[in-house]
Amino acid sequence: MGKYALIVSLLFFILGCSTPKASTKAGQKPLSKITLLISFDGFRHDYLDSFPTPNLDRLASKGVKAEALLPVFPTKTFPNHYSIVTGLYPESHGIAANKMYDQQKDSWFQIGAGSQATREAYWFEGEPIWATAKKQGIKTASVFWPGSDATPDSLKPNYHLYYDNTFDHPHRIAQVIDWLQLPDTERPAFIMLYFESPDLEGHHFGPFSPETKSAVMRMDGLLGDLINKINHLGMRDQVNIIVTSDHGMAQLSPDSVIFIDDYIDLADVTLVQTTPKADIIPLPGKDTLIYDQLKNAHPHLKVYKKGDEPERWHYRKHRRITPIMAIADLGWSIMTRREFALKQKTLKGGAHGYDNADHQMWSIFMANGPDFNAGQVVPPFENIQLYNLFCELLNIVPSPNEGTSGSLDFMLQKK
Ligand SMILES: [Zn+2]
Repeated sequence: MGKYALIVSLLFFILGCSTPKASTKAGQKPLSKITLLISFDGFRHDYLDSFPTPNLDRLASKGVKAEALLPVFPTKTFPNHYSIVTGLYPESHGIAANKMYDQQKDSWFQIGAGSQATREAYWFEGEPIWATAKKQGIKTASVFWPGSDATPDSLKPNYHLYYDNTFDHPHRIAQVIDWLQLPDTERPAFIMLYFESPDLEGHHFGPFSPETKSAVMRMDGLLGDLINKINHLGMRDQVNIIVTSDHGMAQLSPDSVIFIDDYIDLADVTLVQTTPKADIIPLPGKDTLIYDQLKNAHPHLKVYKKGDEPERWHYRKHRRITPIMAIADLGWSIMTRREFALKQKTLKGGAHGYDNADHQMWSIFMANGPDFNAGQVVPPFENIQLYNLFCELLNIVPSPNEGTSGSLDFMLQKK
């Protein structure tokens, strides 16, 4: 990241004053349009109605707003961010969870600071929008979009920052503004920008806590700053701003816990992860035993053998989907007794990862800019539809995907 910032700085130093930063003026040939995709992690759809969000409200009222954006299952961060940029369900793009075991590679995937797996192309299948764009000569840029660190250099976003959660929010905005000011031939046409809030606060304090409210208001303020800066560049009529999120957030309770080791012997399984979806790999010969022990174990627990998961989840075929999965009802947690002893405090906060049919898991979508209609409210739609929309905005041919081509074109201004 430091290296890239230096290159950008040098470029501006070399170009000096001969290239004004705001290069659009009345009468000049209009520059090509740019799409800016922003994700506020864990932004539940009804935060917009519950907390003051004047900047988001303004953006939505003068653009397109979905009643909700429907996440893919599981309603977790990496599966959803990667579905948004590939148009694929997790069973097809391979990011089936935030934590996975791959038997073919005999290796673990886990997100988080210091994770090496999030930089390995092996885990990320399908073609993300930045690769589709690059193959067709369109430049892209990314501040921390999940999955972008793993793409091989030849297909990585042209401007790319490796994930660094210490890189503060105002600097992320400043980076985007720097990119917007690049000369026409260098400037990315598609820019992705990721923020960890309000997910962090939702986890720690719960979805409707004062802390989460503050985080939502802070993110709304950041968006306002970003829009003001774009206005100052004189570029507002060139930039499509899309604001989205990966999933919602539900309130947990220390009284709503399913202790999985009350029903199975942990020595019989590899427990890939526990809550709210327990991914379970039984030892050889133990599949039926484990399934039978869990299937009627608890009234707030549903258990599936691989291949029997609800069809609407599109969550069956990838090898990283475990032979047995158990999922808790909304607000319930699955834990081992040991985990409960260590992590009891987390049950005062929130979580996601539940069934994507539950409204509390739904996220947001709004879009505003030269290509979008104004004042349009649209019904909820699946986030796998967005990849085709991005391709349409960039006027490029999409890679094969599971969205329906043209399904969101009714949001776009007629050409
Ligand atoms: Zn998330």
